[in-house]
Amino acid sequence: MQARIEALREQLRTEQLDGLLVTGASNRRYLTGFTGTAGVALVTLEKAILITDFRYTDQARNQASAFEVIQFDVSFVEQIAIECEKLGVKKLAFEQDHMTFTNFTAYKDKVQAELIPVSGYIENIRMVKSAEEIQIIRKAVEIADATFSHILNFIKPGLTEKDVANEMEMFMRASGADCSSFDTIVASGHRGALPHGVATTKVIEQGDMVTLDFGALYRGYRSDMTRTVAVGHPLAQLKEVYEIVLEAELQTIAMLKPGVACKDVDLFAHGYVEQNGYGFGHGTGHSLGVDLHEQPFFSTKSENELVEGMIMTVEPGIYIPCVGGVRIEDDVLITATGCEVLTRSPKELILL
Ligand code: ZN
Ligand code: ZN
Repeated sequence: MQARIEALREQLRTEQLDGLLVTGASNRRYLTGFTGTAGVALVTLEKAILITDFRYTDQARNQASAFEVIQFDVSFVEQIAIECEKLGVKKLAFEQDHMTFTNFTAYKDKVQAELIPVSGYIENIRMVKSAEEIQIIRKAVEIADATFSHILNFIKPGLTEKDVANEMEMFMRASGADCSSFDTIVASGHRGALPHGVATTKVIEQGDMVTLDFGALYRGYRSDMTRTVAVGHPLAQLKEVYEIVLEAELQTIAMLKPGVACKDVDLFAHGYVEQNGYGFGHGTGHSLGVDLHEQPFFSTKSENELVEGMIMTVEPGIYIPCVGGVRIEDDVLITATGCEVLTRSPKELILL
């Protein structure tokens, strides 16, 4: 945690700010180690304070060892006002992406410092994972891989998508996950054309392609993978589409290494699929960690380059309305010279 605090201070010094009010839940957790749901952190050039309420004081003292934990008397806002005055904070940055207008108004009212909106300070630090974070994410990925191999023996015609999602959830929990890292997507048959088809009561039928997009939440970190399998023999068109998506995924992964622009990765994957007569409307991938979708993104808008220690998903897909769809997604660690695909599940089309 100390390295994270120092990285933030470096940023504050560069911008000539006296402190940052950390109100984003994931940022607070990342910076402090505190897993409770109520708290505000204040990091100045000299001090790191975590304010919480009476329910969490003990927990916060145990978890946030790099922070001075203070239980507020009246409210978070009043306590921040008191601490800022004590510490002589004149220019207080706040996370504009994680502040409601109501709270902003309250802080503006009470705090005797200039409030300066900033964006992405902690998100930028979160982009590159530490060795410990990489180890935890490896385990989250391992649980997802094991879940995929388990579910292959479970899926059969007559089960609903929800039956499959429930079995995956139970398996992940039994394998050490806290829970799934997001609502499991099980999109079968024509529903495969929905990139975000969360499991429904639709019955899986012979000839359906089934897209499974899921991950495990393990010690606060997430994995995210997608495989599309066939139940019986799918339409020839879907088989053809499968090969295009697989080739797009493999070739996109092959270009990942430090220094590559994230937008070029996105352009390449879309270009490959388009050359083959199809297209997809979503980005090619994203980083993940404390949150499922983190900076940077494989998107045409991205201004980031890949750096050793980032973990990215690569997830091209093709969706044919009313017919079905295919997506394949892996989690990939950027290494010093290239990348390592963390997801180990097989990618050739599996016929169940
Ligand atoms: Zn996914
Ligand atoms: Zn994803």
